[in-house]
Amino acid sequence: MAKRKKKLTKIGKIFFCIIALLIIGIPLCFGTIYFLNKEENTTENNSLKGRNSVNQDTEKPVITLTTKLFRTKVGNEVDLLKDVTVTDNSNENLTVNIEGDYDFGSSGTYNLKYTATDSSGNKASEDFTLKVYMNGINLDLSKLVEGNYQTFTTSKGYEGIELNGITYIEGFIIANKTYSVPEDYGKDLEEETKNAFNKMVAAAKLDNINVNIQSGFRSYEKQSTIYNRHVREGGTVEADTYSARPGHSEHQTGTAMDLNWIDTRLEERADGKWLFANAYKYGFILRYPEGKTNETGYIYEPWHYRYVGEELAAKLYNNGNWITVEDYFGLTSVYEN
Ligand SMILES: [Zn+2]
Repeated sequence: MAKRKKKLTKIGKIFFCIIALLIIGIPLCFGTIYFLNKEENTTENNSLKGRNSVNQDTEKPVITLTTKLFRTKVGNEVDLLKDVTVTDNSNENLTVNIEGDYDFGSSGTYNLKYTATDSSGNKASEDFTLKVYMNGINLDLSKLVEGNYQTFTTSKGYEGIELNGITYIEGFIIANKTYSVPEDYGKDLEEETKNAFNKMVAAAKLDNINVNIQSGFRSYEKQSTIYNRHVREGGTVEADTYSARPGHSEHQTGTAMDLNWIDTRLEERADGKWLFANAYKYGFILRYPEGKTNETGYIYEPWHYRYVGEELAAKLYNNGNWITVEDYFGLTSVYEN
């Protein structure tokens, strides 16, 4: 019995050893495989990450534009995306967007941005400006060609353009003691001024008021004759308070006219009162209001009206407290000598 018992114990020991080896070995084996696998994956991940950080796209798209300034008039839309293109190193087809608010129906200067973003989130941006001029301007925007005009800014931040010897402020032709027009400028009243005048005449008639032109367009020569006569009569200092030197008369611009009665007492008459209160509705301004001689350079002239379009006229009318062109835009009206 004892011998058999001993033999069994020996087999049992071997058996035990095999079981023990299996118990330790299997997990060790799988464990090793698992850890080796894990390490392999991590290495692969790391190398992937490494590749990414080396080749990540950080280059912005490139926006190409031919103009940074668009000019148009109220109500005339222009295609702001017409001449702008975008390219990117990713060879993606990107679109250009416009950032900022603008309104073709409302005059003003709009500072805007073209932007383009690629799929990696790189954003390119280019500033540009849209200028929407008021209706009633005299400047023909199509005549502005790069290099044929000069610009400046008035003391109140408005845009001045000098083109062919003529100064335009925000598109309005200016003739006062500081600014003149060339000798050969003008032939007649401007078309738009005539049309607005006819509208005003019709409206006045409904109120039983007659409006008529005493003096409309005046050429350089005509003004020369008038001014020289005034100088002969009262001297230069006196003449300069009410008569423009040739080239400086607003009458030569084709936008101004003396209406009904060239006399200060016009303000007391029904027609003078009607013009004072209603002309702005048709785009006309009282150009030389009372008490503004230090701004306009001229004495009060209740008969002299100038066409500027309804928008500016309404601003300058200012509920009857006329603002002068000089004050509004920040201009002087002083002869150089
Ligand atoms: Zn006049």
